[in-house]
Amino acid sequence: MKVLFYYRGIESIGVEYLMSYLKMKGHNVELIFDPGLDDNHFLKLKFMKKFNQYESLLEKAKSFDPDIIAVSIPTNLYPFVNRIIPLLKKELPVPIIAGGPHVSSLPEYVLENENIDMICIGEGEEAFAELLDKMEKKLNIYDTKNMWFKKEGRIIKNGTRNLIADLDQLPFPDKSLFYEYGCFYDNLEMVTGRGCPFKCTFCNIHFQRSLAKDKGSFIRRRSIPNIIQELNEHLNRYDIKYISFHDDNFTTSIDWIEEFAELYKKEINLPFYCFAYPTTVNKEIVSQLKNANCMQIFMGMDSGDPDIRKNLLKRPMSDERIEMSAKIIKDSGIKLQLSTIFGFPEETPESMWKTLHLAEKVNPDIASGYIFYPFPKTELYEYSIKKGYLGNEEIERIKRGEGGYHHGSILKHPYKKLAVTLSKLIPVYNKTPSMFRPLIKWLMARECTKLALVIYIISIPIAFPFLGIDGIKVTLRMAWKAYRMKVKTARRGN
Ligand code: SF4
Repeated sequence: MKVLFYYRGIESIGVEYLMSYLKMKGHNVELIFDPGLDDNHFLKLKFMKKFNQYESLLEKAKSFDPDIIAVSIPTNLYPFVNRIIPLLKKELPVPIIAGGPHVSSLPEYVLENENIDMICIGEGEEAFAELLDKMEKKLNIYDTKNMWFKKEGRIIKNGTRNLIADLDQLPFPDKSLFYEYGCFYDNLEMVTGRGCPFKCTFCNIHFQRSLAKDKGSFIRRRSIPNIIQELNEHLNRYDIKYISFHDDNFTTSIDWIEEFAELYKKEINLPFYCFAYPTTVNKEIVSQLKNANCMQIFMGMDSGDPDIRKNLLKRPMSDERIEMSAKIIKDSGIKLQLSTIFGFPEETPESMWKTLHLAEKVNPDIASGYIFYPFPKTELYEYSIKKGYLGNEEIERIKRGEGGYHHGSILKHPYKKLAVTLSKLIPVYNKTPSMFRPLIKWLMARECTKLALVIYIISIPIAFPFLGIDGIKVTLRMAWKAYRMKVKTARRGN
């Protein structure tokens, strides 16, 4: 079977896993990738619209002549998916299947979309392969677990299948098609496991866990030799200089880290980046990471108000614990990236300033600021509805995937302007010498959101020296590839 994937903006490891799994099962896959340079979730840059290339993508889709089209939908990608699928449906009369977080949290809503014929809830590899196998053999597809279908005006819902127990059995994610579009350059992204043991109320992990109830172990980790083998395969193919481990939490097990550090140092030894939950950070783990050549750790502080952390976010930890974890990381020589979120329901200006002040005390190498976005079906989404922060209009906007955690707050929040200003200025505040910080604070207190955005954009190379510069390089590369593709399509048309 020929499967055409659509994705936008950045590389998707989830789609790469699906593509390699389907290839292993004998199917043919292709990708149409929209670089989305005019709105990449971080910034909206209208002048970059000229790099949009729907025509070239449609040409490519038609010449591939797929049997099925697959779209993976993180919530804020839904508006863009909705732009391209009517065009694809018009040109190619084949079924369209959707999967991803937005689909798993709002299955009925997504299936109401006239252009979507079926959806996959939860892990997709085995379910999608089974579906294709049945389609190929012209068998009944409507009993495929994890899949819901539209048929003759009704919805057929199937239960969920067991989680994939042994992740080592999966083929390594196929990065080749994303690479052709310039989606990565010298920074290789990968994951070493699935699942997370924590229960942050703004995260859809909690919802994913409930979907997978009684379906096997939710938290799974690959073996270290399997990870090293994958790394070696990519390193033989691409000119990689850094590795980014995108696991929700890299630091949960000291035994695993010890084994990883030893083999990684021996076989790979490239600088790497990973994520850590503050209470999982200790001297032993950090010293192992340092030995293995870890250059930067991303640690979520989220709020600087202990009450908000404990009672609203379900991240019960003291300010002192956060400061201690940060000190351990910085003392080791690993760079610390601290993340903050502003604009939670119930947040007052006082609690938002507490976040700035705790970040200042922690003194990370890099501070990132996000704006709270209530992803559907998360605990904080339901709470925001109950407490009147989301009315019908906002709920509909979230269902349509509008907004995001880099744009303005979608909540009916009395202090949303302050939240946006703080989130945009905290990275530059963190890099500003202390004698000039009162000036940035003055700007923050004035809630000048537009000026804050301009300062944020200008400061990206300084505020985010590693990922910011990598992001700029990748954006330029994607723009160049998109331009070349557009020129080729235009030449063919003449
Ligand atoms: S630690 Fe990260 S992945 Fe885990 S629940 Fe919290 S936000 Fe989600």
